[in-house]
Amino acid sequence: MKKSITLAKHAGFCYGVKRAVETTKKIKAENPIRPICVLGELIHNSDVINELSDLGIKTVYDVPTCFSNDECGVCVIRSHGLAQSEIDRIAEKGYEVVDLTCIDVKKVQQKAMELAKDGSLVIIVGKSEHPEVMAISANARMFSDDVYVVSDVDEITDELSSKIRMAKCVGVVSQTTQQIENLQKIVAALTALTKELKVYNTICASTSKRQNEARELAKNSDLMVVVGSKKSANTTHLAEILKNITQTIHIENEQELDSYAKIVSKAVSIGVTAGASTPQNVIDSVLKKLEIQQNHNL
Ligand code: SF4
Repeated sequence: MKKSITLAKHAGFCYGVKRAVETTKKIKAENPIRPICVLGELIHNSDVINELSDLGIKTVYDVPTCFSNDECGVCVIRSHGLAQSEIDRIAEKGYEVVDLTCIDVKKVQQKAMELAKDGSLVIIVGKSEHPEVMAISANARMFSDDVYVVSDVDEITDELSSKIRMAKCVGVVSQTTQQIENLQKIVAALTALTKELKVYNTICASTSKRQNEARELAKNSDLMVVVGSKKSANTTHLAEILKNITQTIHIENEQELDSYAKIVSKAVSIGVTAGASTPQNVIDSVLKKLEIQQNHNL
């Protein structure tokens, strides 16, 4: 039987990540002397973070204080976004803020703020510790305390259920990289608790396309390989989805393939996809190694 390796069309950098990486490098190229920092890792990939560092772009985890005679420089806000209060704090310190929050994340922030302003109890479907969700929640909380993050149906506790029952209206938005099935499950549970429910499916177009295409590819593959950081929400979700369809391995780089050499050599049709923060060179080296392993009789 002829062996094959198929790469999904929507694998690797999404438009939000691409814009963040390219714009940050461009800022440095145009301002070689000015200090440039990014608050938090620009993307979940250590090679890219090291490349930025070599270019003189610092990754910081809290904003350093600028002293009166110093030039603070530029502080870049990554595609995940940041709470408005934090952006204001950075600007007040004297930094020029370049906000590279993805346009799709901005839309979720906007929708959550509108719902909170209108007096709805707001449910954000996502992971509470994820920076994108933290920023959406913080911005909505500027208008109401009734803002809750739910990642799973089990997180709708008795206490939250009674608040939902008492609310005039409940509004739902979703982290951009959620799985549609999880959003649907949570919406079904909320429907049973409230009379007025407004649901905004804010999963971004890039995530939907990537997940749908990977599902189709998995149906015709006896092995799926997901490439990308294990810290990345969208990459981890991809692997979770595909595990329910076919045998799936999640690796960060080609070196990790060494532990799966036997599985790869036995696979006839291999599908490959990658998360939104996986650079093309990482995907290319995985494809190269897969080809060698698949054709090697172990
Ligand atoms: S995954 Fe979607 S929301 Fe997030 S940066 Fe990419 S395009 Fe934007």
